[in-house]
Amino acid sequence: MVKTVTRLMIIIATVALTSCGSSQPCKLCGDRPTKGYENLATGELEHYCERHSSKCEFDNKKATKYYTNALGDIIFVCEDCYNDIME
Ligand SMILES: [Zn+2]
Ligand SMILES: [Zn+2]
Repeated sequence: MVKTVTRLMIIIATVALTSCGSSQPCKLCGDRPTKGYENLATGELEHYCERHSSKCEFDNKKATKYYTNALGDIIFVCEDCYNDIME
């Protein structure tokens, strides 16, 4: 029983907020302030604003975790979706 999503290289991490003081614009909209999230595929820090990092990608619940998908994109997810992905 392999879910589609588990075939992808998925790296999960709890949302680790790097320290403040970031002056980087949001990767998606260019807004500030942002927080840095480590892209676990590339090891680089990507920056997202509150709006783009606080909602689950799949159901708009509050995102508490994120992972890096096979395409190297950071995906923010809620606890429920995180657990689904990890199954
Ligand atoms: Zn944004
Ligand atoms: Zn969710």
